[in-house]
Amino acid sequence: MNTAPRPLVDRFGRVHTDLRVSLTDRCNLRCTYCMPAEGLDWLPRADALDDDEVVRLVRVAVERLGMRSVRLTGGEPLLRRGLVGLVGRLAALGVELSLTTNGVGLARTAAGLREAGLGRVNVSLDTLRADRFAALTRRDRIGDVIAGLAAAKAAGLDPVKVNAVPVRGVNDDEIPELASFAVEHGYLMRFIESMPLDAQGSWDRAAMVTAEEVLARLGERFELLPVGRSGNAPAEEWRIAGTDTVIGVIASVTRPFCGGCDRVRLTADGQLRNCLFATEESDLRALLRGGADDARIEAAWRASVAGKGPGHAIGSAEFVRPERPMSAIGG
Ligand code: SAM
Ligand code: SF4
Repeated sequence: MNTAPRPLVDRFGRVHTDLRVSLTDRCNLRCTYCMPAEGLDWLPRADALDDDEVVRLVRVAVERLGMRSVRLTGGEPLLRRGLVGLVGRLAALGVELSLTTNGVGLARTAAGLREAGLGRVNVSLDTLRADRFAALTRRDRIGDVIAGLAAAKAAGLDPVKVNAVPVRGVNDDEIPELASFAVEHGYLMRFIESMPLDAQGSWDRAAMVTAEEVLARLGERFELLPVGRSGNAPAEEWRIAGTDTVIGVIASVTRPFCGGCDRVRLTADGQLRNCLFATEESDLRALLRGGADDARIEAAWRASVAGKGPGHAIGSAEFVRPERPMSAIGG
């Protein structure tokens, strides 16, 4: 197609340029704030989009809808077979490519992913203590994650961000240590408020550590210089004085950033979601497998975004939890 893409705008004037693609709902960890110890009923493999289907949908999003960045996530995206090849095909579409991972398999894949065209990576790490990591993720893999972070940096992925979800009484006493770890290794650090998106439905607002609390804890150890928010990014950022380390705080619950949201999400089984908290999805897989042409897929995508609401209503009486948990939507 030679014509320029037409922007994907919703009825509130928000232009959507960022696509999150979940490559699998499976995971090799069992973070307590995300899923139960026994795991979940994973999608049958035939229900998941194959590589050609993912590439086709991303191509339509780039060529027709003006999508500029694609973040690969899951579940655990490194569990996807043939990931390096898929990354190469997506990079060839000319989008900025990033990955969110638990880092367990990153030590052996980082260099290949970088070479295939991956630009940046976010690695989830909620604690620096091995016993705590094992209790929090129910797997004894902290060594792999630390090695994965180092391999990502060595491979030239830039930036390497560490994502942590502080939970009261579990790891909130480590907020300054995590920031120091980021300073020491040249990573960026992000703290994310926990959200009611765990599969068990046991989210408890009282256990959520707010962005304000995170900043207060950090302020006890560091001088924080405000950087602000870059573009529509969800994180508000501070730089630790005397360092290049930038700390981002994502206050999804206490300071929602829905007004500037530029995201759409595609689940591993090809369902388009116009919001993390959406309660409805558009079945792009059915269109793909039913032989729809690109124009039909584009129209379905625009219709989904046209129906996007103003924002989530966590904490209010109208809030309805989405049926799928975070791991099945793509975090
Ligand atoms: N498995 C990968 C990982 O852990 O980075 C990618 C998927 S995971 C669902 C994406 C991000 O969502 C992680 O940073 C994780 O910590 C975060 N997350 C999971 N459950 C959450 C929850 N209930 N509230 C807030 N963040 C959550
Ligand atoms: Fe797996 Fe990521 Fe969920 Fe942890 S947060 S269980 S690593 S999907």
